[in-house]
Amino acid sequence: MLALADSSLLKDAPYINGEWVRPADADLLPVTNPATGAELVSLAQAGREHAVAAIEAADAALPAWSALPGKERSKRLRDWYDLIVANVDDLARILTAEQGKPLPEARGEILYGAAFFEWYAEEAKRVYGETIPAPSPDQRLLVLRQPIGVCAAITPWNFPMAMIPRKAAPALAAGCTMVLKPASATPLSALALAELAGRAGIPPGVFSVVPGRASVVGDELVANPIVRKVTFTGSTEVGRMLMAKAADTIKKVSLELGGNAPVLVFDDADIDVAVQGAVASKFRNMGQTCVCANRIYAQAGIYDEFVERFSKAVSALTVGDGFDEGVEQGPLIDEAAVQKTEEHLSDAVAQGATVVAGGSRHALGGTFFQPTVVSGATPSMLVAHEETFGPLAPVFRFETEEEAIKLANDTEYGLASYFFTRDNARIWRVGEALEFGIVGVNTGIFSYEGAPFGGVKASGIGREGSHHGIDEFLEIKYLCVAGISA
Ligand code: NAP
Repeated sequence: MLALADSSLLKDAPYINGEWVRPADADLLPVTNPATGAELVSLAQAGREHAVAAIEAADAALPAWSALPGKERSKRLRDWYDLIVANVDDLARILTAEQGKPLPEARGEILYGAAFFEWYAEEAKRVYGETIPAPSPDQRLLVLRQPIGVCAAITPWNFPMAMIPRKAAPALAAGCTMVLKPASATPLSALALAELAGRAGIPPGVFSVVPGRASVVGDELVANPIVRKVTFTGSTEVGRMLMAKAADTIKKVSLELGGNAPVLVFDDADIDVAVQGAVASKFRNMGQTCVCANRIYAQAGIYDEFVERFSKAVSALTVGDGFDEGVEQGPLIDEAAVQKTEEHLSDAVAQGATVVAGGSRHALGGTFFQPTVVSGATPSMLVAHEETFGPLAPVFRFETEEEAIKLANDTEYGLASYFFTRDNARIWRVGEALEFGIVGVNTGIFSYEGAPFGGVKASGIGREGSHHGIDEFLEIKYLCVAGISA
């Protein structure tokens, strides 16, 4: 049993219309700790009827929630934020137990996610409209921004907590209601958030959580005509399917999908900063983030020095159970993730790459893998085209700025990119030329609730965070009032 200060945060059933629903004949799913294989809870999964009930409850709750003054919705969101912060230690333990990331990283994820409730609690008060100069003295033209309605959210396992506030906070701030399906591997953080939503006074039906089979619960959320908006974070493959399905009922969609992030290290970079940034970007969450560096390009003049210093830093990373002191790298989420990393590694080696750090499964067994660096990577390798989503860093060589930009953009994805240089003019040239939604310059970390996060091309549609994030949950209504002249 997971030791928590408040054991009532560990839940094992769907949260629908403000109640925990655990039928006797529930479809059970063991939720396990990837570091040990130990069962954390036997989860009662939601079925299609539960998804429908949650959607209908969201629909019933919508008029009262959207009619509340923004200032009142703001207060509830702020209370939710305060409760998350007050319970950060328990929430981090739940997250590490179900997902594997080291405890300090889990804590960081909880606080990062919570900050979206704080931010959008403020934005709830600022959903402004517009007036437009009319073409006739007899008219007044106005624009109202109104909540889109019932929203469905579907989230992945790699950020079991933070992906939820990025959606729920702007949606609820805008006056929408939401039904969430978390990833089956990591439903417990979502359920703990639901418990805190109830304590914060979020009314029944406004935020429900229905963990369950993707083909059943996920399907209902996207197909049900009551749902007006689907907000999804996950793979491009699934996002594409959901977008097609949402077309049947013309739902608005926001998609945060896969990435294939390049890191460019120019000859004029501060190598220490570049090494630090590349490690931070590549090895966060054991390489299992959508913004993780997937391809590292170093310019010829500093290539050897960069590879040497980078591989030294990577070899020094401590691998272990995320609950152990000093651990920086936990296990991968499952065996399939290990196999994909192995497949990309063996393909790179077969095509001539050299292993300069790590290179195999970790002695700890299970799904632990050594943080790995290969040099001599080339564009024909799998690692150049596919998201590895594991702790494998390939280093490619380039000669010119023009070549680096071309290589970086040579992907169907367009989420995050990074480059390191001390040349101010180059910062502008390269920053503007990279075809990505996010560009980190001289840093491997950029996420912040006040900045827009999202991708272009096959990495998605829409933005989360910042004042732009709330637009995803609002419709624009144009009011033309005539007959003003006496
Ligand atoms: P995934 O397989 O696409 O799953 C994501 C979510 O979709 C899960 O809740 C999953 O449910 C659900 N799902 C799967 N098939 C579905 C279907 N047919 N209908 C409805 N729902 C369905 O992705 P993942 O492996 O969990 O996450 C990793 C991917 O997410 C990577 O590609 C990563 O780059 C991307 N990601 C993107 C961002 C971003 O902000 N752009 C952030 C984080 C992750 P089950 O768990 O029940 O299968």
